[in-house]
Amino acid sequence: MESDWNLERICLIEELEKTKRDLDKANKEVESVYEELEKTTRILRTSHREVEDERHKTEELNKELEKASRIKSDFLHTVSHELKTPLTSIKAFTEVLLEDDIDAAARTEFLEIISKESDRLGRLINNLLTLSRIESVQIYWRMEMISINKVIKSAVDNIKLVIEKKGVELKVKVADNLPQIWGDEDKLIEVLINLMDNASKFTDTGGKIEVVADEKKINDQSDIWVSVSDTGTGINPQEQEKIFDRFYQVKTNIFTDKPKGSGLGLSICKEIINHYGGKIWVESKPGEGTTFIFTLQVSSGRQE
Ligand code: ADP
Repeated sequence: MESDWNLERICLIEELEKTKRDLDKANKEVESVYEELEKTTRILRTSHREVEDERHKTEELNKELEKASRIKSDFLHTVSHELKTPLTSIKAFTEVLLEDDIDAAARTEFLEIISKESDRLGRLINNLLTLSRIESVQIYWRMEMISINKVIKSAVDNIKLVIEKKGVELKVKVADNLPQIWGDEDKLIEVLINLMDNASKFTDTGGKIEVVADEKKINDQSDIWVSVSDTGTGINPQEQEKIFDRFYQVKTNIFTDKPKGSGLGLSICKEIINHYGGKIWVESKPGEGTTFIFTLQVSSGRQE
């Protein structure tokens, strides 16, 4: 009787131990399923965040595309207007000149207007051509050792008349014996003409424009610094970053302000200067004037 009971007890204990082992195993399986679930939740959370980030990026991209498309439409409108205005005046003055009874003084004045308008038209078309070449990657970027003296002289010779006729004083200060720089003479002349043309557009009669070129050494790196300063209208701090954007023009009064260009000049200057490893920026105080500065790397060798 006693041994039966003992046997039963042993069986029960074995049964209990087996059940415990089964339970431990089941517990481990539950724990591993739980860990797997935690991992999956973490992955899902990360994916959700990534999807959200992508959605946000797509939304931003859409906004940028809409903005770009709006800017391009405005640009087409401005460019058509800009091309049409000088053409209309060239045509009108040419027709007047074709009449016989024009006195010599009026004739000279009309011819000067025609010449000035043709120059402006030429500069606008040049900017459009440069931009389209940059966009279609058809532009040829020369990399030669060039003299900044020569670049400044050519640009000044090109635009001097426009500035002087406006009654604005032009000063050029180039440091002696400047080292040569890496770049493309024609493109850098284009940069300076754009900066000087802007300075003249936004400076009233009696004002002053100054072009300065110097060498600066910062942390063993030697660069040429060129600045174009004017005593003109100046640019508001909140506009100063935007003016380097393509097609951007500052409008102080959207109802009465007539565009004075195409909003392309500075973005072209930036493309060119950045391509040659330089920097371009603006320092300006509204009502006092503006200075544009660009830097270019010095190559080995001194200018003659
Ligand atoms: P734009 O062909 O209109 O001159 P830019 O890209 O050369 O185009 O210049 C963009 C805008 O920056 C101009 O419309 C003008 O509002 C402002 N700006 C550029 N240069 C000057 C300056 N020297 N003085 C005041 N504003 C300037």
